[in-house]
Formats: sequence, C-alpha cells, structure tokens
Amino acid sequence: MVNIDDIKIFFQGRIALHEPLSKYTSFRIGGPADYFLEPTDKEDVVNIITYLQRQNFPFLMMGKGSNVLVSDDGVRGAVINLEHGLGSMRVEGDIVSVDAGVTMARFVDFCIQHGFKGVEMLSGIPGTIGGAVIMNAGAYGGEISDFLVDVEVLRNGKIACLKKEDAGFAYRRSNFKDAIVLGARFRLTVGDKAEVMRARRELLLKRNRAQPVNMPNSGSMFKNPHGTYAAKLIEDAGLKGVRRGNAQISERHANFIVNLGGAVARDVVDLIELARKTVLEKFGITLELEVKLIGFTQAKEAA
Ligand SMILES: Cc1cc2nc3c(=O)[nH]c(=O)nc-3n(C[C@H](O)[C@H](O)[C@H](O)COP(=O)(O)OP(=O)(O)OC[C@H]3O[C@@H](n4cnc5c(N)ncnc54)[C@H](O)[C@@H]3O)c2cc1C
Repeated sequence: MVNIDDIKIFFQGRIALHEPLSKYTSFRIGGPADYFLEPTDKEDVVNIITYLQRQNFPFLMMGKGSNVLVSDDGVRGAVINLEHGLGSMRVEGDIVSVDAGVTMARFVDFCIQHGFKGVEMLSGIPGTIGGAVIMNAGAYGGEISDFLVDVEVLRNGKIACLKKEDAGFAYRRSNFKDAIVLGARFRLTVGDKAEVMRARRELLLKRNRAQPVNMPNSGSMFKNPHGTYAAKLIEDAGLKGVRRGNAQISERHANFIVNLGGAVARDVVDLIELARKTVLEKFGITLELEVKLIGFTQAKEAA
C-alpha cells in the first residue's frame, strides 16, 4: 500500500481518492480509481512514478481517456494524468517539441500558427500527444509517427530519448513496453498558412459529418482489418443501431459505440462481444480491438 502522507511530502500535484474515471473518459464511462494523480511538472511525474515503482504499487497513464473503456469496477491502484502538468510547446527551426499532456488540437493549431503543414490531417483526433504517440494515432492516410523525430520517455527510473525507429510503430500500435511518454519532437515542413487552415476546416467538417460527434464515445472500437473496414463489416452484419442497455452501435458510423446516457462498461462489452462474434460467423474475420480495456481481467484486456 502507498501512504498518502508520504506522497504529500514530495508530490506537488492534485491527489483525488476514489475518483470516478467517467469524469475523464470521452465515453463518460468508468468506475473509480483508488488514486487519481495530476502532477504539476516533469519533476513531479518522475518523483511520483519512481515512488510508486519502488512500492510496487500498480499505476497506469491516462491522457484524455479518448481511446479507453474503463470497467465499471474502476482501477485498483493509481491513474496518472499529465494533461495539466506537461503542457508546453516550443519551436526551433523545423523542429517542434511538445510535452505529453498537450492536446492534439493545441498541437495542430500551434504548428499551423508557426507556418508548418502536414499535421492538419490529425485535426479532430481528441486526446493528448502522449496518448497519440502510444496509439500511433492517425487519420486520412497519415499517422503521428510520420512526423516524429524522437520521444522523451521515463523508463526504469531514468529519462531517455527514444528514436522513432526504435519505437516499433505500426498501424495504431507502438512498442514502448512500460515506458512513460513525457514528450515528443516532430520535424515539419513549411506550408501556406491559409491553405493549411482551409484543409483543416474541411477535414473537421468531413469528420463531423461521418462520426457521432454529439454523443459520448471512444472513437473507432476496432482496428480496420487488412483490406477492409471494421465499420463496413459491422454494418453488413446488420448490427447498426443495435442496443445493449444504454449503449448503441452508432447509426451514423458502425465502428463507433455511443453512450446514449447512463451506459455502463458492461453494456459496451456486450456490444463488442456481439460485433466480434457476428462478424466472425458471417465473414470469417476476427476484429481486433483498437480501444484499450482498462480495469478488466487480464484475459479481457489482452483481447
Ligand atoms: C470522437 C473520436 C474520434 C477519434 N478519431 C480518431 C482518429 O481519427 N484516429 C485515431 O488514431 N484515433 C482516434 N480516436 C481515438 C483517440 O482519440 C486517440 O487514440 C488518441 O490519440 C488517444 O489519446 P488520449 O490522450 O485520449 O489517450 P488515452 O485514451 O488516455 O490513452 C490511450 C492509451 O495510451 C496510454 N497513455 C496515455 N498517455 C500516456 C503517456 N503519457 N505515457 C504512456 N502511456 C500513455 C494509456 O495508458 C492508454 O493505454 C478518436 C476518439 C474519439 C473519441
């Protein structure tokens, strides 16, 4: 067990006990975390993680919670959120350095305001840079790793710089093992600001038309299988609009599950299982989860 009074001696940030994670996930679903910790700066992050590791106390990182489904039982241990403590960005030549807690929207806007192009394709992806790097977030044919130079990580109690080539990036995948992402550096090219702003606007409108943006959700539930789309398979399986409790396979985009209000994680898990079983039976394709399951049994999380 960790001792809260011990933590308070060195930890500057906010500590909340039994904090409902539904407040921090885009799904608005999730039971309580034993400890919810918001470090104020990098030193605070290093200190708290070093302490928790020494105590052998379980913890996990959460950005904007836009790619997770947290169980109704919540999380035993600590959840660490970097959004408020690690939020700065700077430019040197064609390199943009970004802290892990910066949101994607702020990052894209910062790049555009500094005359760069390329990252506008990532507009509209919710979440933080930390979460985006771990997920290798992408859209419209591009991925965040396309622009990456290196990633600053905390690993085995030390801050290190991991080159992009060593991070195992693939489609919605990276291989940081247990490393914590503290920040990242991107190399960008100069573009026409008006043109880039127009492209961003169009992509955001396109996204708003295609996705159920007015209802809580966690983005695409499944990765697209090679050569096809998860949404098409789920739609062709006749599952659009199907409900379990207060969760529904979106009528607008079948790879999204939406929270109609008061949905619980169990409802979403039922729909995940239904989609996987039906698509496998009808098309012989196993859908792989894109969303990370948190606080479930290990077997479920690995699924
Ligand atoms: C409406 C909507 C649309 C979306 N559209 C897209 C899209 O077009 N493309 C796309 O790729 N994704 C999309 N997503 C999914 C999601 O926005 C991205 O995966 C995003 O990058 C996740 O960032 P996050 O900060 O919310 O991460 P979280 O959901 O908080 O975390 C994701 C994973 O990263 C880990 N993590 C987070 N921060 C750190 C850190 N600092 N160090 C180590 N591990 C960390 C978490 O433990 C978890 O395993 C969408 C989601 C929604 C709700």
